[in-house]
Amino acid sequence: MIPGLGDTTLWRTSSYIDGEWVAGESTYAVVDPASGQPLAQVARAGARETLQAVAAASRAFGTWRETTAAERAAVIRRWGELMLAHRDDLARIMTAEQGKPFAEAQGEVGYAASFLTWFAEEARRAYGDIIPAPKQGARIVVTKEPVGVVGAITPWNFPLAMVTRKAGPALAAGCTMVLKPSEETPLSALALAVLAKQAGVPPGVFNVVSGDAPAIGDTMMASKAIRKISFTGSTRVGKLLMRAAADSVKKVSLELGGNAPFIVFDDADLDAAVTGAMASKFRNTGQTCVCVNRFFVQSSVHDAFVEKLVQAVRGLKVANGMEPGATQGPLINRAALRKVEAHVADACEKGGTVLCGGRPHALGGTFYEPTVIVGAHGGMALAHEETFGPVAAVFRFDTEEEVIQAANDTDYGLSAYFYARDIGRVWRVGQALESGMVGINEGIVSTEVAPFGGVKESGLGREGSKYGLDEYFEVKYMMMGGL
Ligand code: ADP
Repeated sequence: MIPGLGDTTLWRTSSYIDGEWVAGESTYAVVDPASGQPLAQVARAGARETLQAVAAASRAFGTWRETTAAERAAVIRRWGELMLAHRDDLARIMTAEQGKPFAEAQGEVGYAASFLTWFAEEARRAYGDIIPAPKQGARIVVTKEPVGVVGAITPWNFPLAMVTRKAGPALAAGCTMVLKPSEETPLSALALAVLAKQAGVPPGVFNVVSGDAPAIGDTMMASKAIRKISFTGSTRVGKLLMRAAADSVKKVSLELGGNAPFIVFDDADLDAAVTGAMASKFRNTGQTCVCVNRFFVQSSVHDAFVEKLVQAVRGLKVANGMEPGATQGPLINRAALRKVEAHVADACEKGGTVLCGGRPHALGGTFYEPTVIVGAHGGMALAHEETFGPVAAVFRFDTEEEVIQAANDTDYGLSAYFYARDIGRVWRVGQALESGMVGINEGIVSTEVAPFGGVKESGLGREGSKYGLDEYFEVKYMMMGGL
């Protein structure tokens, strides 16, 4: 248990299957990344628990799909309201297991709840179609049907929002779900299950199993009952799942890695660009899939932008996320720290200059100093791999053609950002960027009302918005003849 938790019933360490808390045969430690100390021993689920959860979800599907959209909406909306009513407790649990500053965690609770509210509303608007028939005495009716049991696999960087972004539309569509949260942040997902139960989500409709990731994943992929996999995480694991989905031809939605460019043109409002840059780059200590990985700044404004950026970065406060005023928490684990260190060392060896930061933070553990590096170029590892840490690497460019080519020179295409005022340039660049999402004079693109997702190796499908609901439907067409 963590200090300050108001509603201690939110603290759960068992799997949640068929509306029951199921202790496993063994447990594993969930660690506070700020201290490196264990927070809780959580049931280690594997194939057996996953099969139980899939069986429960299959049984529940038969009745959940028959409920009216209004009935599902009422339950899902109540779930979102309960999240907001427990905002601080959920945020406390999240900061403890994930490390993000408490204020950011509170923000994530609101963002996560917004997916439940939005999809509760959308559940009632899943309209079908009537198509003029090609012959007399016939009608063509198109309906949308829930795909079935959904297997959801989520990452540690948004322990609540990545869950509700899948569970909201899935349950709204009439699907049931087996969720495997990241083994590093299961406590938030289990707290969410407590609230699901309170909200009236029936047993088996939402199940949570955490533990042995490959065993749970393999069991999900082998299951014929699971008709869809929705995954958010690394491109490496996404490719594994996509291959495995072929055997039973499951639908797949994949939200994978990114390598976001952030372009500052010479007509940009530099102060606005710095504000957007800070929000996009340093949120969650640089550990979001839409975080900027490469800053491209036009030569004539390069030095002015960099000076303002460094000043803003120096204003960040690195601390335990529960400390008042903290803006940068720890990295999630040692492997994350090693990757950031390797990218910075590689950049320095290849001619980059560190203007601030560039080292592990004096707090030790996995804390790292917010860093700005100039003189970045395409030969550096950070140009091609997602750093996933608080490192702003700045590339200099001269022409629009050159920067579009460089920005698109990546296997990824999740989000891109640029700052410019010229209307012709805004349209040209917005259309030329190979990216599922583009922030134009905006550093944050995530919202429940818009389609989130990537192109190229950043993924398949969209989450949030009306497009996100369609991912959980099959389209059925009925030709009625003999009328
Ligand atoms: P990250 O590098 O962000 O941790 P991962 O892709 O490793 O990204 O993790 C995202 C999610 O995928 C987590 O829930 C993790 O447990 C899960 N995962 C990792 N390996 C597998 C696997 N072989 N099968 C299924 N899920 C997996």
